[in-house]
Amino acid sequence: MGNIKSGNLGYPRIGGQREWKKQIEAYWAGKITEQELHEGLAGIRLGNLRCQRDRGIDVIPVGDFTYYDHVLDTATMFGLVPERFAWNGDKVSLDLYYAIARGNDQAAASEMTKWFNTNYHYIVPELGTRDPRLTVNRPLMAYLEAKQELGIEGRPVLLGLFTLLKLSKGETAHEVDAWIEKLLPLYVQVLRELEAVGAAWVQLDEPALVIQLTDEDVRRLGHIYRTIAREVPGLRILMQTYFDAAERYEALVELPIHGLGLDFVHGRDGNLEALRRYGFPAGKTLGAGLIDGRNIWRADLDEGLSLLSEIRVLAGEPELIVQPSCSLLHVPVSAAGEERLAPVLREALAFAEQKLEELTSLCEAASGDGPEPARFAENRRALAALAADPARSRAAVREEAAQAAVAPAERASEFAERRRKQQAKWRLPFLPTTTIGSFPQTAEVRAARQKWRKGEWSPGQYEEFIRAEIRKWVEIQEELGLDVLVHGEFERTDMVEFFGEKLPGFAFTQGGWVQSYGTRCVKPPLIYGDVEFTGPMTVKETAYAQSLTAKPVKGMLTGPITILNWSFVRSDLSREQVAYQIALALRGEVEALEQAGIELIQVDEPALREGLPLKPKDWANYLSWAVKAFRVTTSSVRDTTQIHTHMCYCEFDDILDEIRALDADVISIETSRSHGELVHSFEQHTYPLGIGLGVYDIHSPRVPTEAEMAALIDRALQVLDPELFWINPDCGLKTRGQEETVAALRQMTAAAEQVRRKYGKGTKAGEGKE
Ligand code: GLN
Ligand code: ZN
Repeated sequence: MGNIKSGNLGYPRIGGQREWKKQIEAYWAGKITEQELHEGLAGIRLGNLRCQRDRGIDVIPVGDFTYYDHVLDTATMFGLVPERFAWNGDKVSLDLYYAIARGNDQAAASEMTKWFNTNYHYIVPELGTRDPRLTVNRPLMAYLEAKQELGIEGRPVLLGLFTLLKLSKGETAHEVDAWIEKLLPLYVQVLRELEAVGAAWVQLDEPALVIQLTDEDVRRLGHIYRTIAREVPGLRILMQTYFDAAERYEALVELPIHGLGLDFVHGRDGNLEALRRYGFPAGKTLGAGLIDGRNIWRADLDEGLSLLSEIRVLAGEPELIVQPSCSLLHVPVSAAGEERLAPVLREALAFAEQKLEELTSLCEAASGDGPEPARFAENRRALAALAADPARSRAAVREEAAQAAVAPAERASEFAERRRKQQAKWRLPFLPTTTIGSFPQTAEVRAARQKWRKGEWSPGQYEEFIRAEIRKWVEIQEELGLDVLVHGEFERTDMVEFFGEKLPGFAFTQGGWVQSYGTRCVKPPLIYGDVEFTGPMTVKETAYAQSLTAKPVKGMLTGPITILNWSFVRSDLSREQVAYQIALALRGEVEALEQAGIELIQVDEPALREGLPLKPKDWANYLSWAVKAFRVTTSSVRDTTQIHTHMCYCEFDDILDEIRALDADVISIETSRSHGELVHSFEQHTYPLGIGLGVYDIHSPRVPTEAEMAALIDRALQVLDPELFWINPDCGLKTRGQEETVAALRQMTAAAEQVRRKYGKGTKAGEGKE
């Protein structure tokens, strides 16, 4: 029988109290020196290693720690420094490293994008004309440090060459084979140096292997891994995949590698099927990802154990490592401090620390014939209590959500008909102007909320403050001459938290932080129970705004898919069912708004695209229920009620059909940074519903001019129907200041008026008002 070890793939960097963030930001602010930063971060790094050792993990990863992002680490280690940054070709200094991530006076930051289908964002490596070179051997340093400081024989982690190139961009990024030839010798050098100091294994992360592999890709992988095996024969390679089932398993497993890591949580069926069909080569190690590295619930260890036995049989009793499904960087550090949660919930959580214990318990149970590890009984008890929580079995909600999956969700009339009625009712001008929802959340607004939360202000006092903000901004919007107004979202911190706090089935941790990008951390809500509408959530503020003006005020909700994708979701129900529950709850809010006389309603879905599965073949299924959920929320309204939606991205082409299928009367999308590209994509297929392409970039404090916005509008109107076109900024304005916001909106309304005049449809007196 093969031998079993417990192993980990990566640990959260941020520290139990987010001290990582605090130290790095203190360094940026000039409050601590580089030396102090190095010392501080070494403390966190070694603490993480100790924590894994003390919990009995046999195979501890080293080199997964970072000062910002592990992809940026890999790029700078190989000298992939964008040419716009001055660099003498030596070591990449800390300040240069941070400049690539954040920009500096001389050069813009590198792009940042989502790490596969997680909410972690990495810095996109840029391949230019500079030749790569090894600037530092990070895994080697990490390996030696762990050994010297703690006597830990760690397993170095490095992003694999294949995935590194898949994630890279730049002018020469298409020259993949040439880049492999340039980088492969550097990888070999890194690995040889590890071999020389006695490292036994290295973990090469290749998550790109779960997306889609062509024959060409397989050929490249063969070349890379055969070269490594030939040049570094004394080092064992674990090729690690995660986030879904490995593609072309039969080819991967035959590569000259010593171990293959598979995700049996998120790629369970595909990976089991591959084992069943092709078996597993004798003499290789199988990394079995059994504990969910993406969610925060305790594991069902009995289920884990039986899955493990199945894997052992199918794989022919190989050497095994029981490991998480992916790096634990995607879950918070420790659930130990969550004293404010109800005991049943608190007990059901497993963050990184607790997951380490689950790994060792599972490993122990699988390897020995000793007594069952205590954690089994503990997990059983906690999960049974959670399952029995009445909040998880609201029968009516379950029933309605199940119905939603099968019943149609359609507006009463087609768009053309709705549009006629809406035009008659609203009489909006040609090229109507509006904003995306939020207005500046100034220090004053945040301070007011703090006072109320701490009890220094009564709810009445806080409410009066919010009303005063709404009044101020309704006046500003009227003075600017905007056509569709908003209340400004002053009462909201976060667009998901705000709704979660008002809906049953959600809970909030105190310390459940995970890294989103760089030092930015987010604290996703937990969706643990059935979600339902229990009363209006946004009507009061919106109706108040409407009472102050004759212009229409647009209601503002976060959509079901965005709420789902930005939360930790219960794992006993399908995501689809949870989406319908949220969608139905939000439908209650849409109907409440409509009843209160708010008849333009925007349902934001900035995270719709983020939820796309990694494998293209799985897209259609996700998109079909995501679109359905949106329609469940928005389809029960009257024809005259105008549904808006907003999305924060412009990669639109590949999901255009689904976006159309949302059947929103108006969509606003973020485009000002790549306006040309998007407009170009509408040359192929125009958009048949109302649409607003953001005409200015709210991410920048620069106030755009009337002329430049008018030019963008002109350009868009060459491919989009002017009668369906709206004028708006490209996202919410909450991060901006009041002055710049007003100035920019003034230019925007002037630009709209300029273009209207061109069409003989100016709205100002004497200029052809229709
Ligand atoms: N209505 C939200 C706002 O204006 C939309 C935010 C978003 O797109 N992320 O802030
Ligand atoms: Zn946006």
